[in-house]
Amino acid sequence: MSHAPASHPAAANAGDADGARVKQDFIRQIVRDDLAAGRHAAIRTRFPPEPNGYLHIGHAKAICLDFGLAAEFGGRCNLRLDDTNPAREDPEFVAAIQDDVRWLGFDWAELRHASDYFDVFHLAARKLIAQGDAFVCDLSADDVRAYRGSLTEPGRDSPFRGRGVDENLDLFTRMRAGEFPDGARTLRAKIDMASGNINLRDPALYRIKHVSHQNTGDAWPIYPMYDFAHALGDAIEGITHSLCTLEFEDHRPLYDWCVDRVDLTGDPSLLQPLRDRGMPLQAGKPRQIEFSRLNINYTVMSKRKLAALVQEGLVDGWDDPRMYTLQGLRRRGYTPASLRLLVDRVGVSKQNSVIDFSVLEGCLRDDLDATAPRRMAVVDPLKVVLTNVDPDHVEALAFPNHPKDEALGVREVPFSPELWIDREDFAEVPPKGWKRLVPGGEVRLRGAGIVRCDLVVKDADGTIAALHCTLDPESRPGMDGANRKIKGTIHWVCARQAVAAEVRLYDRLFSVEKPDDESTGLTYRDHLNPASRRVMQGWVEPAAALAAPEQSLQFERQGYFVADRRDHRPDAPVFNRSVTLRDTWATRGEA
Ligand code: ATP
Ligand code: MG
Repeated sequence: MSHAPASHPAAANAGDADGARVKQDFIRQIVRDDLAAGRHAAIRTRFPPEPNGYLHIGHAKAICLDFGLAAEFGGRCNLRLDDTNPAREDPEFVAAIQDDVRWLGFDWAELRHASDYFDVFHLAARKLIAQGDAFVCDLSADDVRAYRGSLTEPGRDSPFRGRGVDENLDLFTRMRAGEFPDGARTLRAKIDMASGNINLRDPALYRIKHVSHQNTGDAWPIYPMYDFAHALGDAIEGITHSLCTLEFEDHRPLYDWCVDRVDLTGDPSLLQPLRDRGMPLQAGKPRQIEFSRLNINYTVMSKRKLAALVQEGLVDGWDDPRMYTLQGLRRRGYTPASLRLLVDRVGVSKQNSVIDFSVLEGCLRDDLDATAPRRMAVVDPLKVVLTNVDPDHVEALAFPNHPKDEALGVREVPFSPELWIDREDFAEVPPKGWKRLVPGGEVRLRGAGIVRCDLVVKDADGTIAALHCTLDPESRPGMDGANRKIKGTIHWVCARQAVAAEVRLYDRLFSVEKPDDESTGLTYRDHLNPASRRVMQGWVEPAAALAAPEQSLQFERQGYFVADRRDHRPDAPVFNRSVTLRDTWATRGEA
């Protein structure tokens, strides 16, 4: 069964008000109408990626829609790898796609490959030839292009269009036997070279390619074209609602042509190869429905461009935490719930739009604000010595793990007269409105009391080496003066028990809204944000170091961080900043 596991209520509310309302988009309305009219006993959908790269955040929209719809309406959703283009496909991608879909919280009814159906496609092609609906064409790729015409001019018939059925069948048999070199011939649909829709001008159905396939090896020297394979794949699986993005709208007439002319439901013999292999038979007539792509500013979202970033060494691989692949977002600390929330908030329509990056970040903040345990960490350390506390004093303070959720419990935070605070929280010459520590001033150390800065200790070169402070004993937790009013509160860690940590401060990979707008003569490579990664050596409290890989935490006052799923170890912690606590980009332009 296709379903979202109970722990990942994708279709329900994920702890968020957004999910609670019934979704009313046009696709769900079509499904409701179809079910009400009894057109289907149950719906079937599929998510059909080509395994030629890693999935990106745009795919999350398609995944949530395909799997989410099936779950909401008690249907089934297949994962189908549309692997018709062997030169660019790889088992590495096949594995990663499965991993990503599961990570997002979904599971498939059946895992299929378009290549599982190669023998059915082949029988279907022979049927089209026999019906006079397809012919073998000897034109070169350049000639095919020249004959195709343009948006304003009709195309011209191929000189091979009139070939007889027997000659076509013979030539197609020899194509399949591997007699001809790559590109020598194609099998083309015989539709209409004058059609206003260029996709209907005798499109290719099969091409010759002597290339090994990731699933079928060297079994086939010919491969079906995407439109043919995709339409028939849907029909074979009995997909009721075949959802895809708007750029396929113009392909829909060809999609329908393939389904109708092959007519799998009227001709079950075509499915014999599947019957022979014991595959469940469930053919039907699918309906294609298009929706708008997810676009987000400050990102590139195409497998080709993401691949180029990796290949050109501009990022550290497919799962670099700055990448907009699902693997990159995962490593950055994006949660499945935050991405499902994004898809819910963006909604489904036929209107193309660009979502502001802050919407994506807002979804992560909303998810983690509710779920991430709080910890203290110092990213850019400055030593504080409390001169009026016994040098041997050690203490464990009890801190709640979450200010709004008692169920997350408490932890012990060690305290001693030697602490680290963040350099940013001290200013010798404070700017206007400064609320943190200054020479001679006071600040509250979160949960530990109020300190006054008595002395600034400097190195020979003038850099500040440490602050000598006194702790007001009456301001300690539980004392009468614990609530004494004070302007600023800062975080800290105990220098004696803190664990040294690598803290990677990530930011947007691109510094402009439309990195792939090439009208300026620049490319997205020219818009990389030089500050997209800064690596700091900081200190974290012991409870933070103990985090499991992929555990998200809020470092108080700093942002949400995740223990890196590759590099983090409790004795050598590594944290990635997932998102800051507030959006700092909105105001940057005004500075
Ligand atoms: P890309 O153009 O980035 O390489 P693609 O469309 O070629 O992506 P496929 O593997 O063909 O990638 O996509 C699988 C499914 O995901 C398709 O149904 C496609 O329509 C959908 N999809 C791809 N990109 C987006 C997006 N940005 N928003 C929503 N759905 C998308
Ligand atoms: Mg594509």
